Amino acid sequence: MTLVDRFLKYVSFDTQSDESTGLTPSTPKQMVFAEYLKTELESLGLEDITLDEHGYLFATLPANIDKEVPTIGFIAHMDTSPDMTGKDVSPRIVKDYDGSDIVLCAEENIILSPAQFPELRDHKGEDLIVTNGKTLLGADDKAGIAEIVSAIAYLKEHPEIKHGKIRIGFNPDEEIGEGAHKFDVEKFGCEWAYTMDGGEVGELEFENFNAAAAKITFKGRNVHPGYAKNKMINSIRVANQFIAMLPSMETPEQTEGYEGFYHLIGIQGDVEQSTVSYIIRDHDRAKFEERKEEMKRLVALINAEYGEGTVALELRDQYYNMREKIEPVMHIIDTAFSAMEAVGVKPNVRPIRGGTDGAQLSFKGLPCPNIFAGGLNFHGRYEFIPIPNMEKAMNVIVKIAELVASK
Ligand SMILES: [Zn+2]
Repeated sequence: MTLVDRFLKYVSFDTQSDESTGLTPSTPKQMVFAEYLKTELESLGLEDITLDEHGYLFATLPANIDKEVPTIGFIAHMDTSPDMTGKDVSPRIVKDYDGSDIVLCAEENIILSPAQFPELRDHKGEDLIVTNGKTLLGADDKAGIAEIVSAIAYLKEHPEIKHGKIRIGFNPDEEIGEGAHKFDVEKFGCEWAYTMDGGEVGELEFENFNAAAAKITFKGRNVHPGYAKNKMINSIRVANQFIAMLPSMETPEQTEGYEGFYHLIGIQGDVEQSTVSYIIRDHDRAKFEERKEEMKRLVALINAEYGEGTVALELRDQYYNMREKIEPVMHIIDTAFSAMEAVGVKPNVRPIRGGTDGAQLSFKGLPCPNIFAGGLNFHGRYEFIPIPNMEKAMNVIVKIAELVASK
């Protein structure tokens, strides 16, 4: 089976995850896909194949070299985003893309156009896999799975390429932020690993946000509006005052790169009580802590004005920047870097403006940077993947295995 055949087969499984079920895997259909993959890994002759009750599938490609080589892993996630249906994905290959508009769905006039998605122009002359405009594609992250399985199959077929023990791990529920929670790092047994879950060719990521969630509750005092003078406290107005005190330029829509933000994600309120919800993000741990302190300071100011107990703040850390766990083992980035260059890919290191499973795994003791899987426009109907991107990702995996053994 070729890399592309594998990918097309994998996207035929609907594996959408669901935040609301509280289960792992969050949807039983992910287990159906896991069972299929397990069978495929068995037919490839891998060893130590385990699929646990939570849908975590691990397997081993044994070393073929007679020396001490660190065990490394490659990880991808099986679920697709809850943002868009992944049922009845009907992919199409656009051969030798000519740089013009691609009609995904004629009847609904859904067009994948370089006018909206200029990155398409980088892939002129290539074969692209696109959707029929009605679902997402699922390259996030079935491309990663197809690349890992194909790289392992390639290594099996090419015993002249010497490598240490390679572990592969496929997990459910990354898209709902739960992919790493039940990942048994000890059982996986690797010194380090790479998630194959990035976008465009060359992406190499080992920095992500530090993240916290804040919920602020404002208590008002409701009085008949005709007789409210000097008596009423309208919690909606107090909440609004608080919102206006935060820096107006430090929002997602005003920031990029390493700039952090406060993101207002929800407001609910009446005169008596209002709540506002924020997420706080910053790559820099010290600035991240300062942002949380700033929220506490503003809450104290409001309480000083309206009376203690008017505002209550709940802060909860969500995840941290993996950089602090990767820095002591920078050689794992150097290896990925060298592997990319060796197969003709220009590495593009950039900070993730979000979190990854790899960040959580890094804090669980498995340093785990993220490498491109090659897809673009994730989580929607405009998702596509150039076939050469997938081939390059597969080559990078093979090369990393080889480099780790040659050191
Ligand atoms: Zn992903």
